[in-house]
Amino acid sequence: MADPSTIGVLALQGAFAKHVSMLEQCDASLKVIEVRTPAQLWLVDALVIPGGESTTISKLLDLNQLRHPIAERLADGMAAFGTCAGLILLATKVLDGREDQSSFGVIDATVRRNGYGRQLDSFEADLRVRGVEDPYRAVFIRAPKVEAVGPSVEILASIAGSAVLVQSGSIMASAFHPELTTDLQIHRLFLELVRTS
Ligand code: GLN
Repeated sequence: MADPSTIGVLALQGAFAKHVSMLEQCDASLKVIEVRTPAQLWLVDALVIPGGESTTISKLLDLNQLRHPIAERLADGMAAFGTCAGLILLATKVLDGREDQSSFGVIDATVRRNGYGRQLDSFEADLRVRGVEDPYRAVFIRAPKVEAVGPSVEILASIAGSAVLVQSGSIMASAFHPELTTDLQIHRLFLELVRTS
């Protein structure tokens, strides 16, 4: 896609509002919309799936009849960026999930919900991110831990041997919350991916 004009942020639950404002700050010519219905989904060139609670978002995807339309768009190659709970919702395998939650399975990764444990409920870490010039300070909140990735997955950043930012084709996903800082580098990286995919 040469010039993405509309980016959607899934707005069923969680940290969606800040993603909208970060994306708008990246590029004033972008149209950024909150997505709550299939009709809104059809308007977007790419979708951000925010952090929050993956079990709740999973339930709301069904209640709002968004699961199949999103799966269809992803199968058609729509670019997507899942952050924290969003990473869980994009992964192929979820450990410590609830039985009634399910994911889109478009990034070949095994992720453990709340995998950094109780003591590390929330923490910050300095990352070196592939494709990003400056060091990046990432905020983690009850983050999922990426325990394994398949060969189609590129690791863009990791801490202590665990991937925390990954990419597979037009899908990007982070264990951290890029919308909770003032640093736009990760959103810019996603917009670059949208432009080239
Ligand atoms: N632990 C949450 C979940 O399982 C994710 C936390 C977050 O998105 N900050 O969905």
